[in-house]
Amino acid sequence: MRITNSSKLQAPSSKKGLIFVISGPSGSGKSTLLVRLVNSRGLKHQLARSISCTTRPRRSGEINKKDYFFVSQRQFREKRKANKILEWTKYLGYYYATPRDFLERQIQRGLDVVMCLDVKGALRAKRLYPKNTVTIFVLPPSLSVLRSRLRKRCNKTKKEEILKRLELANEELEAAKKYDYCIVNRKLDEAVRKLRGIALKEKSKRNK
Ligand code: ADP
Repeated sequence: MRITNSSKLQAPSSKKGLIFVISGPSGSGKSTLLVRLVNSRGLKHQLARSISCTTRPRRSGEINKKDYFFVSQRQFREKRKANKILEWTKYLGYYYATPRDFLERQIQRGLDVVMCLDVKGALRAKRLYPKNTVTIFVLPPSLSVLRSRLRKRCNKTKKEEILKRLELANEELEAAKKYDYCIVNRKLDEAVRKLRGIALKEKSKRNK
C-alpha cells in the first residue's frame, strides 16, 4: 500500500490523533474512497495512510518504511508474540500486518491515520483504541451493483470468485451495525463528501 508523504504531515493540535478505519465488502469502494479522502481539500497532509508490515521481499521501486515495513519471518513472529500487531493475514505464503507501533506513534504525535481493515481488524482497533478510533462501513447500493463493480474492476475475476465474494459480502453487511458510521457508496462524489464530512466532524470534536 502506498502512503502519503508523512514528512509533510501537519499535527493539527496537541491532542492525540484519530484512527479512521474503513471496512466494507470487496468491491464496495473502500480503496477508491480512501484515496479520495487523503487527497481531499482540508485533509491533504493531515491524514496518513497506515503502513503495513510484510514478510514479502521488497519489489523494485518499493521503499522500506514508505510502502511497507519489510521484516523477516523472525521479526514478524517476535512482533506477534509481543502483541505489536493489530491484525494480520497470510497471502501467497507471506504475512501482511498492521503494526501497532506505527499507529501509536502517529496518534501520540497528534496525527490522524486512515486504513482499510476487515471487520475483525476494525473491531479490534476500536477495542484497543476506543477513544481514538472511528469506524466507517462502506455499503454498496445493492448486491447487484456490487456484482457489476467486482466484474468491472477485474474482468478476469472468475464467476466462482465473484460468487464467493458476494456470499462473504452478505455476512459482512450484518456487521455494519457495529460501526460508528455507514456510507452507501452510490455516487462516488457524494460518498466522498460524506466521508470527508465524517472526518472533519470527528476532528473538530477531538479538538474541542
Ligand atoms: P474495495 O477497495 O472496497 O474492494 P474499490 O475501491 O477497488 O473497492 O472499488 C471497486 C470498483 O468499483 C473499482 O473499479 C472502482 O473504480 C469502482 N467504484 C468505486 N466506487 C464507485 C462508485 N460510487 N460508482 C461506480 N463505481 C465505483
